[in-house]
Amino acid sequence: MKNIDTYTFSGKKALIRVDFNVPLNAEHIITDDTRIRAAIPTIKKVLSGGGSVILMSHLGRPKDGPANKYSLKHIVAHLGQLLNTSVKFAEDCIGEKATSAAAGLLPGEVLLLENLRFHKQEEAGTEEFAKQLASLGDVYINDAFGTAHRAHASTTIVAHFFPEEKMFGYVMSGELNSIDKVLKNAERPFTAIMGGAKVSGKISIITNLMDKVDNIIIGGGMSYTFAKALGGKVGSSLVEDDRIQTALEILKTAKEKGVNIYIPNDSVCGDKFDNAANKLTCLTNEIPDGYMGLDIGPEAEKEYASVIENSKTILWNGPMGVFEMSSFESGTKAVALAVAAATAKGAYSLVGGGDSVAAVNQFNLADKVSYVSTGGGALLEYMEGIELPGVKAIRA
Ligand code: AMP
Repeated sequence: MKNIDTYTFSGKKALIRVDFNVPLNAEHIITDDTRIRAAIPTIKKVLSGGGSVILMSHLGRPKDGPANKYSLKHIVAHLGQLLNTSVKFAEDCIGEKATSAAAGLLPGEVLLLENLRFHKQEEAGTEEFAKQLASLGDVYINDAFGTAHRAHASTTIVAHFFPEEKMFGYVMSGELNSIDKVLKNAERPFTAIMGGAKVSGKISIITNLMDKVDNIIIGGGMSYTFAKALGGKVGSSLVEDDRIQTALEILKTAKEKGVNIYIPNDSVCGDKFDNAANKLTCLTNEIPDGYMGLDIGPEAEKEYASVIENSKTILWNGPMGVFEMSSFESGTKAVALAVAAATAKGAYSLVGGGDSVAAVNQFNLADKVSYVSTGGGALLEYMEGIELPGVKAIRA
């Protein structure tokens, strides 16, 4: 496998799949440029090595071909500022406009192609479309971890046309190294913190982690399916009745494998799903009718913090409660602080999956954990043990 750090880019055109799927407001102004910033080191590496750069990405979910709202032209000026160079733009990602723009690129120049998803063939993973993209560059770099779980033309199929000249960019290798450190080389004790709304979305991850971890901490809405499975009274908390059996099986497997599973002993409940709800703190298995568990309680906070602070490897996915509401943010904050404290003592901590990332940002702790994944769905699939097509295509 080729490596971006040792590859000679001089005179080469690098076709880079980036993730520029950033939020834009009604005036097409970028409201969060994190993903664009993340791609800068990879782009600069190629440029400083004497190569030129052809960037391809999707933006949003265009349904029927080109639409101004989803045009990547809105990104050009800001990308130019971040790179401190002018960025050329091709109004289509294949065809005459793309080929002539790519052909005319000089070393040190950057070209951004129009939204890949203006063509249905992108998501369909069409061979012919991928071949046309491939014809633009001499070397292919995949730096879009967020779409690595999709076998799309630009993320996976295109790599087949670069049997030797293909590699990961820095975003991809950073994400993969971090997850592999946790899933393959974890220093013990290893604690997985699983939260969020539902058990159903997390079953495969919990199952895959069962052979690797020492502790699984459960929080968020899924706690109440576990509590009910154990015979508890959970009031009107979020419960997936069709997952009660699954919850019992998870508890049984954990026991067999010697994994400690923690369910919150107490909960902060509300009489409605509202920040201004009447609040009540009680045992998780004794929630009165008319109340729902919306956060882990103070006892659970203490117990969880102690387990986390005694861990050497931590994987955190999903909030402990409805942290978007200040009345129910305390448990998630306590866990975030414990993860930061463990990290300060030398533990390796990976935070990933949309809402836990939002949580560490909300509490200004993103730089106090070892790695914050931008992966979302791709990270979840990787944690389930699935080989991501975009990763496999480079490693093959
Ligand atoms: P997920 O996408 O499954 O990780 O779920 C994240 C969402 O779960 C967040 O928006 C939280 O507000 C929500 N959540 C966390 N705890 C609870 C709870 N006890 N009841 C209902 N929703 C919750």
